[in-house]
Amino acid sequence: MANINEFINTAKELADLAGKKAGEAVEVSKLKINNAKINGEIQKTYEKLGAFVYKFRKSGEENSELIDMCVKEIDELLAVLEENEKKINETRHKVKCSDCGALNDIQAVYCMKCGGKLQREADDLYVEMYVDAVPTENIGVQQCDDEAKQEEANEEKSETEPERPSCDC
Ligand SMILES: [Zn+2]
Repeated sequence: MANINEFINTAKELADLAGKKAGEAVEVSKLKINNAKINGEIQKTYEKLGAFVYKFRKSGEENSELIDMCVKEIDELLAVLEENEKKINETRHKVKCSDCGALNDIQAVYCMKCGGKLQREADDLYVEMYVDAVPTENIGVQQCDDEAKQEEANEEKSETEPERPSCDC
């Protein structure tokens, strides 16, 4: 479970980044992808927890340390998830001024800082829709699939290689 901390660190970095560049749809997408990963990690930890509980109940063993560890992991992941959701909502309900970069309320027409007219980009919606459509189970395993396909292709190639005609003389 060394990955948990990596996930949490990445999520925190992304959350910080989103704070700095709030209003940019790309950051929302990153946060969403990260949340999908965290959700997967939470599910895995729940399964692990369930397996431990089952094992200990069957054997009559007591190991509250392991159970506590799982609970703590889940709590940490849930906290990061919540933080991300908050960032996503903050980012989503703001519009960034293209002139000065200030964040304005989504309903604002003019920038509260420089007074410039605010423009809404359709990209925001597009990116979010795209991210929602990404199947979470494929995140992170893309490379493995590609490698497997590559190997398959190589095998096929060697199998179909024509045999040299044998000499009859
Ligand atoms: Zn402005």
